[in-house]
Amino acid sequence: MNPNWSERLQTWISEHREEALELTRSLVSLRSINRVPHGEEWQVQQYVADYLRKLGCGTDMFLPTDVRELTAHPAYLEGRNYQDRPNVVGRRKGSGGGKSLLFSGHVDTVPLNKEETWTVDPLSGVIKEGKQYGLGIFDMKAGIAASLFALRGLVELGIPLKGDVVIETVVDEEYGGANGTLASRLRGHHADAAIIPEPSNLVICPATQGGIMLRIRFAGTGGRNFSGEIVTNPVFAAARFIEIFRQYDRAHSMKASLNPWYKDGPGLTSYLQGMKAGDVSLPLSDRTPNQCSIDVWIQCYPGTSEKELYQDFTGFCLEQAAEDELLKQFPPQFERLIRFLPGTSLAPGHPLIETAVQVVQAAAPQQLAVKGAPFACDAFMFEQYSEIPVIVWGPSGGNAHAADEFIHVDDYLQLIHWYSLMMMEWCGVE
Ligand SMILES: [Zn+2]
Repeated sequence: MNPNWSERLQTWISEHREEALELTRSLVSLRSINRVPHGEEWQVQQYVADYLRKLGCGTDMFLPTDVRELTAHPAYLEGRNYQDRPNVVGRRKGSGGGKSLLFSGHVDTVPLNKEETWTVDPLSGVIKEGKQYGLGIFDMKAGIAASLFALRGLVELGIPLKGDVVIETVVDEEYGGANGTLASRLRGHHADAAIIPEPSNLVICPATQGGIMLRIRFAGTGGRNFSGEIVTNPVFAAARFIEIFRQYDRAHSMKASLNPWYKDGPGLTSYLQGMKAGDVSLPLSDRTPNQCSIDVWIQCYPGTSEKELYQDFTGFCLEQAAEDELLKQFPPQFERLIRFLPGTSLAPGHPLIETAVQVVQAAAPQQLAVKGAPFACDAFMFEQYSEIPVIVWGPSGGNAHAADEFIHVDDYLQLIHWYSLMMMEWCGVE
């Protein structure tokens, strides 16, 4: 590679800084909330498709359900509605003789949470003190924007690539969807390697954790005891269970992994994500609830199966519950809520990892970090159902799935530079 290209790209990016931030702002302003089973990705996908066309990409826009094999596929998750929810895939052809590189991101975001207060308009993409804010900006519209803008830099500077660059934006990743990513693979959109620009805080992640979402139910006898009825409140049992969950979380987070990408952390995370008791839609409560449930999300290292994770968690909880007088009366019942997301891991030394490492080492060696991601995503659709090696590598920021979600603007601009160099290194320059 001509070493001047890197500098010219960097100059081009700083000259086009406002446009790079305008792009994330546009993506954020087009609301694309995933409210299972529906999603509103239509508008943002039209925008991305237009952007890709302007970059000289051939585009394919299709509903996941347009892919005939999808619903019969063993990894298809039932129960989602794909009306007006197209995937978009853009391919900018290289001159030939190089390897192709795919950037794959999801455009759906989690809903705004009524209980949380944003200090800025969540759809504004406003910038304050080096941070840009927006619903889904960190997870993961900025990562998508960075890949689009990196390609634009190469196109505008006339840097001729040998291999194809493919940028796809999929629908329905949140809540274990992943059908969008599966549909793109079944549609035949192939590449020699893939980068998922999920928010890794600039860390190159050759591995991802897996996860399972469960609901734990407790049943009692609700109402009032006006006529001497026996009222038993399941919330007290749930409260005991929460303490057991805390113990599990503590023990689980300290489990070590044999996987090379996790030997120095990050450890395993578990979340207690929600709790319901009684009819929460009533303006005032008027009785002892007869149902209480707790929703949890529990992560695992790559290589752990759904069965192993499920048994590890439920085994721990049931053993503790057996010692508890109250929980003996109100035994917890476990229910799976969404699909299991398996973890993934690419072998050390893989050329995709080596190339990404070279890029960062050449451009900003002090920022080089390579390790497993602290979260689960749809990378498993690549690992299990395609031949495409995959890493996660995306922007820095914070407050994913929370109020005031943001990215760091300078890191975002740096990521654009890295992605453009990655496209050049991987695909080859004429
Ligand atoms: Zn995400």
